Amino acid sequence: MRGETHHAEPTLIDFDCPGCGAKGVEGRLTEQEDRLNLLYVVTVLKLINTYVECSECRAVFTSKARAAEIVGLSPSEIGARLAPPTDFIGCAMAVLALLTCWAPIVGLVMALIALLLTFRAGGWPKIVSIVSLSLTGVAHVFFLFIAVTHR
Ligand SMILES: [Zn+2]
Repeated sequence: MRGETHHAEPTLIDFDCPGCGAKGVEGRLTEQEDRLNLLYVVTVLKLINTYVECSECRAVFTSKARAAEIVGLSPSEIGARLAPPTDFIGCAMAVLALLTCWAPIVGLVMALIALLLTFRAGGWPKIVSIVSLSLTGVAHVFFLFIAVTHR
């Protein structure tokens, strides 16, 4: 397994910053593609993240809309499509979910919480959450199999 990140050249846009409240402030719009490759060849997971960095407060926001959809919108429309990036708790939960993915019930609950916390912001915590959920899913099938065959 190998992670890969592709950056596109940033585009300058005017937007209303949800962080510092500046209206029509200049922002750097960047689109980033995260790939999780299996054996360097097969892309098992591809996530596209769109970021806007405020030139006033330097805060970085993530967007659910793609960069191409954002360019041309009014500053307030862009501001309404932005969310703060995944906070520390989201990142910590993603790592914890991966560490506990082998544990019955606990692993499943942790992975679901991690995915909920990281879903909007995306980036590597979302990839880790999805991987944890997949692993814990496989583990639970295994637990059920053991429970059924060892009664
Ligand atoms: Zn700002």
